[in-house]
Amino acid sequence: MQEHYDLQQIAQDLQSCQRCDLYLYSRTAIPGNGDSQANLMIIGESPSEYDESTGKPFSGPSGRVLDSWLRKLGLTREEVWLTNVVKHRSVDLKDPRRRNRAPIASEYKACSHWLRLEISIIRPKIIVALGASAGKALLGSGFKISRDRGKTFPGPYDSIVVPTYHTAYILKLKSPLLEQVSSQVEQDLDTIKRLLSQLTE
Ligand code: SF4
Repeated sequence: MQEHYDLQQIAQDLQSCQRCDLYLYSRTAIPGNGDSQANLMIIGESPSEYDESTGKPFSGPSGRVLDSWLRKLGLTREEVWLTNVVKHRSVDLKDPRRRNRAPIASEYKACSHWLRLEISIIRPKIIVALGASAGKALLGSGFKISRDRGKTFPGPYDSIVVPTYHTAYILKLKSPLLEQVSSQVEQDLDTIKRLLSQLTE
């Protein structure tokens, strides 16, 4: 399948995709971005309104949290591949402020066409799934973030999948849950760092 596609073609074709209804409510599709030969792929849930302005995933406050996590791994966003399970923003239509909501199963299943293509082209060694939707999209509907985060799972093309919390979730937390979840994320980052170091051994 990937022989007929490259990342530029995916970015172009996303703009006319109607595989689910999300294209109706968002300004533009946001393709993945970063190093197309990266060992590490980070998969979030859905583009933000900031991403719609910049055209890149993980812009705005959530992206700044991600940058701090990447620094702990000794990486920059230019050295990894960043993407989402859905490429159009998943908007809560009942919310007057039209804030993001988590994508539902029918949406990330429809968009898995594009995610599978991305993974088949980039072939990352390690995939970090941020949040429940990304975990379910990669590991199935039985995935539970509270139970499965920080564990390692076999992923596509011999990759290893490590789920952890989404950066946007961290931003919503208050003490004492914030400290508890931050400590769990630190443990997950240690796991990812160890896996990355094993690639160069
Ligand atoms: S979210 Fe994905 S599947 Fe849905 S319309 Fe956008 S690109 Fe297509």
